[in-house]
Amino acid sequence: MSRTAIRNIILLAFISLAGIIATQIFWVKKAMDLKEQQFNHRAYVALKSVSDRLIHDTKNKVQLDGINRKASNYYTLDFTSPVNVRMLENYLIIESKNQNLNSDFEYGIFECTTDSFYTGRYVNIQNTGKIERLKIKAKPSENYYIGVLFPKKTSYLHDDLKLLIFFSIVLLIVIGFFTYTILVILKQKKLSEIKTDFVNNMTHEFKTPISTIALASDVLKREDITKYPEKLHHYATIIQEENKRLKNQVESVLQVSQIESHKIALNITEINMHDLIENIAKNMEPRVSELDGKIRVELHAKNAIVEGDEVHLTNILYNLLDNAIKYCDKIPEIQIETINKHKGIEIAVRDNGKGIETSSQGMIFEKFFRVPSGNVHDVKGFGLGLFYVKSMIKLHKGKIALHSTPKIGTTFTIWLHTKDNKNGK
Ligand code: ADP
Repeated sequence: MSRTAIRNIILLAFISLAGIIATQIFWVKKAMDLKEQQFNHRAYVALKSVSDRLIHDTKNKVQLDGINRKASNYYTLDFTSPVNVRMLENYLIIESKNQNLNSDFEYGIFECTTDSFYTGRYVNIQNTGKIERLKIKAKPSENYYIGVLFPKKTSYLHDDLKLLIFFSIVLLIVIGFFTYTILVILKQKKLSEIKTDFVNNMTHEFKTPISTIALASDVLKREDITKYPEKLHHYATIIQEENKRLKNQVESVLQVSQIESHKIALNITEINMHDLIENIAKNMEPRVSELDGKIRVELHAKNAIVEGDEVHLTNILYNLLDNAIKYCDKIPEIQIETINKHKGIEIAVRDNGKGIETSSQGMIFEKFFRVPSGNVHDVKGFGLGLFYVKSMIKLHKGKIALHSTPKIGTTFTIWLHTKDNKNGK
């Protein structure tokens, strides 16, 4: 799947999710508005019926001046004649139930002139029979009003919010799964790209020695070749060298499966890392000098004795130095420095090469990973060197760190236990 296709899928999925969220918010809001309108209407009808019944009972002695909505959950009914409080409460309960209001209410009778409270109480609509009625303390004056408050109106309306929260949680889970799926797709894509690169790379790397061997053996097959022993020797050497190269390449690939199946056993001996470094630096010197470069060795560690596998430790340093030369686009200036640190030895291999982009640094030790270089394959490799280095350092219970600045250079720092302190740590 192409990068643009994946980007479009992600974009479409996010647009759809945003659409679902917006629609959900819109409908919940609409449902809440409708519910509020319905509540207001029912409350009004209930209070109207209450006042109608009061007027009817008192044979038109009660004069209704109107029902006023003072707040979203508070209504007043103005009367100019006294009213039977017990009847009022009964009517309020009956009409509330008739209108399916299902919301507790508080009513009170207040004097108009002083706004003072005369009587009233809180009515639990689910439990109307069990609550004692308040005693009426005094007769109300001529001008009074009845206030009816629905204190639980907001929570009654917000019942729908619970639904919104539930849907939001479901949506969050969906988004979580979606993000996870995208990450898996991206990871798989990266892996398949890495594998394709590796196969292409390997085919390319194998083709060169194979065709060289084919050419050299064609020459050797000539009947008159025995007349030219130097030529014979020369072509036989080419075949031998190319064969060695092929063998090394196959071995480096096979080594990966050995590392992964933990089949590598270390042959532990006491090693003086300074001797090892000096030896490798000496062997690398001709390659660096050919490029007019230099390898500087600064051995400051007082204790350089490590218990490890000489072959693997040599390979580790060889790999790092090989990379320092391979990935250098200037005259190579390589430095190997040792110091004692945290009861061990720290070996830093510093170069002035291309450096590694921050975006690639996290993957540099992964198998088959090579820093993307477009279609330019000027530097040979399978992306296995650093995977091997890290795996071997881990097997030696050591550590490796990378510090790199693009266009300036790279430093790989290895830390290994030194002999004296290994048991003490
Ligand atoms: P290989 O060299 O075979 O490609 P490695 O595992 O040794 O594999 O290195 C992985 C990648 O890390 C290389 O392809 C290269 O892009 C980058 N790299 C490694 N060492 C250096 C270095 N010293 N300077 C710059 N880039 C490096």
